[in-house]
Amino acid sequence: MNSAPSILDSPIEYLKGVGPLKADMLKKELNIFTFGDLLEHFPLRHIDKTAVSKIAAINSSTEFVQVVGVLDEMVAMGEKRSKRLIAQLRDNTGAVELCWFQSIHFVQKALVPGQKYLAFGKVSFFNGRPQMTHPELEPYNPAVAEGKGLEPIYPTTEKLKAKALNGKQLGKLTAALLAIISPKDIPEMIPAPIVSRLQMVPRYDAYVNIHYPKSASIYQQALYRLKFQEFFIAQVRLGITRLQRHRHSQGVVFEKVGEYFNTFYNQYLPFQLTGAQKRVLKEIRTDTGRGKQMNRLLQGDVGSGKTIVALLTMLLAADNGYQSCLMAPTEILATQHYNALNELLQNMPVEIGLLTGSTKIAQRRQLLQQLADGSLHMVVGTHALIEDPVVFHKLGLSIIDEQHRFGVAQRAKLWAKAAIHPHVLVMTATPIPRTLAMTAYGDLDYSIMDELPPGRQPVTTVHRNEMHRVKVMDFIRHEIEKGRQAYIIFPLIEESDKLDYENLMDGYEHVKAFFPEPKYWISMVHGRQTPEVKETNMQRFVKGDTQIMVSTTVIEVGVNVPNASIMVIENAEKFGLSQLHQLRGRVGRGSEKSYCILLTGSKLSNDARERIKTMCDTNDGFKIAEKDLELRGPGDIEGTRQSGALNFKLASLVNDKPILEQAKQEAELLLENDEDLGAIDNAPLKNYLSLQKGKTAWSKIS
Ligand code: ADP
Ligand code: MG
Repeated sequence: MNSAPSILDSPIEYLKGVGPLKADMLKKELNIFTFGDLLEHFPLRHIDKTAVSKIAAINSSTEFVQVVGVLDEMVAMGEKRSKRLIAQLRDNTGAVELCWFQSIHFVQKALVPGQKYLAFGKVSFFNGRPQMTHPELEPYNPAVAEGKGLEPIYPTTEKLKAKALNGKQLGKLTAALLAIISPKDIPEMIPAPIVSRLQMVPRYDAYVNIHYPKSASIYQQALYRLKFQEFFIAQVRLGITRLQRHRHSQGVVFEKVGEYFNTFYNQYLPFQLTGAQKRVLKEIRTDTGRGKQMNRLLQGDVGSGKTIVALLTMLLAADNGYQSCLMAPTEILATQHYNALNELLQNMPVEIGLLTGSTKIAQRRQLLQQLADGSLHMVVGTHALIEDPVVFHKLGLSIIDEQHRFGVAQRAKLWAKAAIHPHVLVMTATPIPRTLAMTAYGDLDYSIMDELPPGRQPVTTVHRNEMHRVKVMDFIRHEIEKGRQAYIIFPLIEESDKLDYENLMDGYEHVKAFFPEPKYWISMVHGRQTPEVKETNMQRFVKGDTQIMVSTTVIEVGVNVPNASIMVIENAEKFGLSQLHQLRGRVGRGSEKSYCILLTGSKLSNDARERIKTMCDTNDGFKIAEKDLELRGPGDIEGTRQSGALNFKLASLVNDKPILEQAKQEAELLLENDEDLGAIDNAPLKNYLSLQKGKTAWSKIS
């Protein structure tokens, strides 16, 4: 194995042209510490050195331009923060204004009026005249300009520009670097059969050509190769983690489908399962039957019917002599799950309990006893379930609803409640885009339920200005007269709990003015209430004693009131897409036509406008998740924030889906045939992975 130090690990100050001062700046400003870091400091774009425009040809559709002209006198204008430096650059067709706001002193010293310069930069129009702000300038030298082809422009900072390291000048460093490294310094690590099957350019060539391409098409090939490489390496790593878990974990065996499952399935299941539900159950059945711990993520859109999948899995556990628990993030949800399961199981000899923070002491004592002696088959609960005194007789399955509210550490505590770790099924309410799931959760097994039970009417979503609130209230009144119920949701927006509370109270008074007692009754639920009060208010709405539920987002997930057909969201622009989708998922659960009304003011940011439009355009949670990813980028999607698996330099989870699919497929195929990467062809990859190991912090999700 080749583990000699690589030239790419050399400190950046050893590169020709980089003294201690520049090295310091490169480290501070761009995180470039080694030759390898510089090699992976990729160009933003390339300019064709030979393509010099006439100044007169600049027009409003010009984005970047390269011109040659003579520099006029520079004039400093303005005071303090509006201080700027202005100069004209002229060729024989016209003039373009050059403008600097920073490092003015330095620019004035460096440039010589009357001299001919090659200027490159972004063009904007100011008072109808073209202008280039902080252009890249160099004295014009016709001999150099000829035959140079595509020249890289690198991301840089103003501080570096002032130290002669602008986007172009950084190219001198990459050129110096490429001059001293050879193919043996950047050996191929993707297995040869893959390289040749996908007709990829070799790794070394890809690096050379991403910086200094001979042509645009060679650049594209290099780009493809390097993006593929990023995804491929990530997928191989995740695949190995997954395989190791499969290999080394020990799990309880659910070997048979027995009496409990079959009786329920044949006699009490209130509907036909959807194809997606059946498929997922099959996956779970396979997982739990082979003696390894199941660690499965179940993604299903709101209303796709995850609860029944959970119940059937719990019955499977019971058939094999194991207890199971179902954890929900809030008391309301836990209680609701408990009630729903109890009703479904009413004619079955299955014992089920509920444990939350507000379970009374005597009841709690009894429940703990029953869990410990094994007389309870199932327990539903909140965080209270992970608390220390809870001991199970034989825990074989833990189901976690609404995943991202539970931390990894909490989950681990749950595992510790059985000698052999119980199977874990995590159900998410918010779909995650496929690309993100493949990278952030690639080491988990996951199932997707992308099918809603039949007969659902899609929710009609509209956007209304707050000015028309009266009309919206009239509409609600009309629906209530038909026997329906409505949610009116207020956002948590302020930093202070107090302001949110006041905002909600204002809203409540407002709604009350439209819907006075005793003709109408309103429930209100918010974070300041005790669990008992929340529960009472919730139950009044569930039973239909109140027609309207005014709430902050505490009802965001899970609650099921099929008769509610209207969801009004106040200040809808303050909500993220997945939250809006969750809230909308509270209606459209019954047979009635349902509506979601998004109220906003008239001033909306572009992003907010996109979010609202997306909501009005589609009901598909997976499409919404894609849009969310596009708008916010992978770093901000809930639940994946700390995932080191998302740091790609070139590849994009939004724009490079086909490459990701391909990389995943290749990685899977590879590991299927050679799990330990022991084959000769795979030795370079194995070597690469082990060398990279200490360098990256790969956070594990579960
Ligand atoms: P979620 O996936 O959002 O948790 P639920 O499990 O709460 O969804 O199911 C939503 C509703 O759909 C429930 O009222 C449930 O009884 C019903 N449901 C689930 N599966 C089916 C099915 N296969 N056919 C008809 N209705 C179903
Ligand atoms: Mg649910």
